[in-house]
Amino acid sequence: MLERESALKGIISRGIRYVSGREKIKPEVLAEKVAEGRAVILRHGNIYLGIGEGLRIKVNANIGTSPDIVDICSEIEKLKAACKYGADAVMDLSTGGDINKIRKTIVERSPVPIGTVPVYQAVIETIEEKGALVKMDTEKLFEVIERHADDGVSFVTLHCGITLNTLERLRKSPRKTMVVSRGGAFLISWMIANEKENPLYEHFDRVMDIARKYDLVLSLGDGMRPGGIVDATDNSQIDELLTLGELTETAWKNGVQVIIEGPGHIPLNEIPANVVLQKKICKGAPFYVLGPVVTDVAPGYDHITSAIGAAVAGWYGADFICYVTPSEHLGLPGIEEVIEGTVAAKIAAHSADIARGLKNSIEWDYKMALARTQRNWQEEKKLSIDPVKFDKIHKRYKSTEKDVCTMCGKYCAIKTVEKYLGVKIITS
Ligand code: SF4
Repeated sequence: MLERESALKGIISRGIRYVSGREKIKPEVLAEKVAEGRAVILRHGNIYLGIGEGLRIKVNANIGTSPDIVDICSEIEKLKAACKYGADAVMDLSTGGDINKIRKTIVERSPVPIGTVPVYQAVIETIEEKGALVKMDTEKLFEVIERHADDGVSFVTLHCGITLNTLERLRKSPRKTMVVSRGGAFLISWMIANEKENPLYEHFDRVMDIARKYDLVLSLGDGMRPGGIVDATDNSQIDELLTLGELTETAWKNGVQVIIEGPGHIPLNEIPANVVLQKKICKGAPFYVLGPVVTDVAPGYDHITSAIGAAVAGWYGADFICYVTPSEHLGLPGIEEVIEGTVAAKIAAHSADIARGLKNSIEWDYKMALARTQRNWQEEKKLSIDPVKFDKIHKRYKSTEKDVCTMCGKYCAIKTVEKYLGVKIITS
C-alpha cells in the first residue's frame, strides 16, 4: 500500500514507525501529518526519511557529473563526504558520462535517499539521438522518469508547474534573469519550439501512474525561481507556485506524496512571505528551499548567503534545505566545497530547529554549553558539527596555561570566574 494511502487509513506503517522512533514524535501524530500531506516519508531500501511539519529540518546535498567533468570515483567520494557531514538526502544531478551507471552506483552506495531530475537525462539522450533538445518526444521523457524510479531513486524533481500561461506571463514580465533552472530552461525551450504545453503538466496523469507504481515522492520543481534579487517574488514565480498548489491536490487525490521546491534568490525581508505563501497555496505540503540565496554579490561564499536564507526560511516553516556550495555560479563543486556546503546547510537547519523549539536540537546546544564551561575539549569536539575543523584550529597552537585555548590564554574568562566564584557557572 502507498505510504500516503496507509496514513489516510490510520495505519502505522513501517516507515512511520521508523521515522517516529528517530524523531521522537508519536507514530499516530506523524501518520496524521502524512495523511494531511504536511509530511512525507521517503524510502531508500530499509531506510526511511521523514520531511515536514514537526520534524527536524532535513538537508539535501547535490552531487553529480557535468559535461566537462566526469569522474564517478569523485562523485562517490562526494556522496560519502556529504553523508559524513550530515546530509539527510542526496540528489544525483549528473549530466555527463554514463548517467545510468552513475545513478545506479550512487543509489547502491548511498546510505540516504537519492533524488534525481529525470528531464536532464531525457534531454541529453535526445540531443545524442536526434541532435536537438527540442526534438525530445513525450515518450522519452516518461520512459526516463520510470527508469529512474525503477533504479530505486526515492524522489524526483519534475517541473510540472510551468505552463504556456506561465510562458506568456514571463514574456510580458520585466524579469531580468529570465530562467536559471536547468530543467525549467529545457522545458521552456521545448515548449516554445514545439508550440505545445509542458508534457509534465499536460500528462500529469502519467506522472501519477509512475509515482503510484513506485511510491515515488514528487518534488514539484521551481522552474521559474528567480535567479537574482531583482526578480524575487515576481509574477512568474508566483504563477508557477499557484499551479503547483493545484497539482499538489491532484497528487494527494492519487495517493502520491509531494514536496514543493522554492526559490532561489530572495532578499531576507521577503523570505517569511515566501514561506507563508507556499504553505498556504500548497496546503501545508513540505517546502524544499534551494538556499534561498540572500544576495547576488558573493560568489565563492554562496554557502554562506544561502545558509543565511535557509536559517530564516527554516525558522518560518521550510522543511527541507538544499545546500549551496561555494562553487555555486562558478563551477562544479569538489569534495571540499561539498563539505562546506553541507556544514553550512546543517548549521542553518539546526539554528532554525532551535528557533522552532525542537527539544533534541535545544538539548544538543545545552550539552555544548556544559562542555565549554567545563573546558571539556573531547566532549566539545564530539558535539561539534565539524569535528575535523575543530581539531585543526584547536590544535594549531598550544597555550602555556593548562586547559584553556589560545584565544585568551591565561586570561580565560571561564577559568577566571570559576576560580573566584569557586563554582562552575553551569552544572549538569
Ligand atoms: S580561553 Fe577564552 S575562548 Fe578559550 S575557553 Fe577560555 S574563555 Fe573560551
